[in-house]
Amino acid sequence: QQVEAEVVTFSVPSYACQRRTTLENHNTVLTDALSLLAENAELSDEDGRGVAFRRAAAVLRSLPEPVTDMKQLRGLPCLGDHSLRVIKDILEDGASREFESTKQSERFKALKVLTGIFGVGSRTADRWIREGIHTLQQLRDSGQSLNRAQQAGLEHYDDLNRPLTAAEAEAVGEIVERAVVSVLPGAQITLTGGFRRGKLTGHDVDFLITHPDEGREEGLMSKVVSWLESQGFLLYQKTTRNSYLESKDGPARPPANMDRFERCFSIFKLTMEERRGTEQPENGERNPNPAEDTLSVGARSGSQTDENTPPQSQVPADERRHRVSGEDGGQEEAKPAAHKPWRAVRVDLVVSPISQFAFALLGWTGSKLFERELRRWAGHEKAMSLSSHALYDNTQVNTSQSVFRHFIAALSFCSVKIL
Ligand code: ATP
Ligand code: MN
Ligand code: MN
Repeated sequence: QQVEAEVVTFSVPSYACQRRTTLENHNTVLTDALSLLAENAELSDEDGRGVAFRRAAAVLRSLPEPVTDMKQLRGLPCLGDHSLRVIKDILEDGASREFESTKQSERFKALKVLTGIFGVGSRTADRWIREGIHTLQQLRDSGQSLNRAQQAGLEHYDDLNRPLTAAEAEAVGEIVERAVVSVLPGAQITLTGGFRRGKLTGHDVDFLITHPDEGREEGLMSKVVSWLESQGFLLYQKTTRNSYLESKDGPARPPANMDRFERCFSIFKLTMEERRGTEQPENGERNPNPAEDTLSVGARSGSQTDENTPPQSQVPADERRHRVSGEDGGQEEAKPAAHKPWRAVRVDLVVSPISQFAFALLGWTGSKLFERELRRWAGHEKAMSLSSHALYDNTQVNTSQSVFRHFIAALSFCSVKIL
């Protein structure tokens, strides 16, 4: 009876966009398990199941304290039978067999390694696995033809799988700012994605670019890209006018979360010099590897030399072997190459006209689940369609003005800050 009385129950709104979720997670064991199962589902093209696990993980992440008893979960939204089973196994037996066996499965490990290559999606990885390719070395030896993105992804595999710090994101931001200001004074850049949400690390750095005068942003991306290229900052870039034309080896119908903005998916070459430019000396954490930093002298001159060098040839054969064996050994974290005075960084650039800027900013701030839930909430609860371009009232023809007022009012319910 006393135990019963001590059980804390939580109250959580059902849409992720209605919750205030801090970076502080009191249930990492549970959310790690559910996130891995979500990832496995997504990599197996079971998107529905993936979303279910993501929703369940998000609910647990929003809780103010650790869950210790299944009774605490009574009445919580988004916890389906499958997720509850996983949670129960962990709470009562200390481990979930499904989580452990998925994590250890050869197929999951191979999917992780192969989709860890920039430019490789779950379908390509699946095809390779069916052909017996499970590791980077097997891929290199297989003679599979790789597109330009995949070649760059394979070449910079370790860098691109090593989390970026906020300091590195800031350094990239300064470069993008210089590029944008040089080609169009008055244009503005805004950090989006995970770093805008305050995440401490990320897999890439995302920026939204606009100009306060509608129309001035036209043609901006190609100028920015040319500037970056001329300065030796780009290892790879692909600019797309329209995402609907993009997905040759992706799904035939683009996912609902795709937008039509001009965008550039790129890989930057970030030198130690650029990274140090933003470092704050009092913060020791930002420079975890002092030996690496001392190698930065003359980094920039090196960065200018290999613009036209084909992929692969920049990396000595022995280093390639080393990196591959490290990966095959199943190491979680790639070791930084201490002798290399730069690192590759994934950067996403998006250009939006100022009239759509608020929607673009909201759409590119993420997280992916938050965006999905916000759109679901708009549709189901408010009869509106939200995209990265606009908000439409599904029930009537409205002026954009009144819809926008609605929109701002709506956002005040979902702990979103824009502008
Ligand atoms: P990470 O640290 O892993 O980069 P993130 O939240 O920044 O985390 P991203 O993959 O960079 O993740 O995506 C950021 C946001 O940009 C997503 O939440 C999504 O809403 C938006 N986004 C990403 N790709 C596209 C796309 N192709 N079309 C439209 N929006 C996209
Ligand atoms: Mn990102
Ligand atoms: Mn991104």
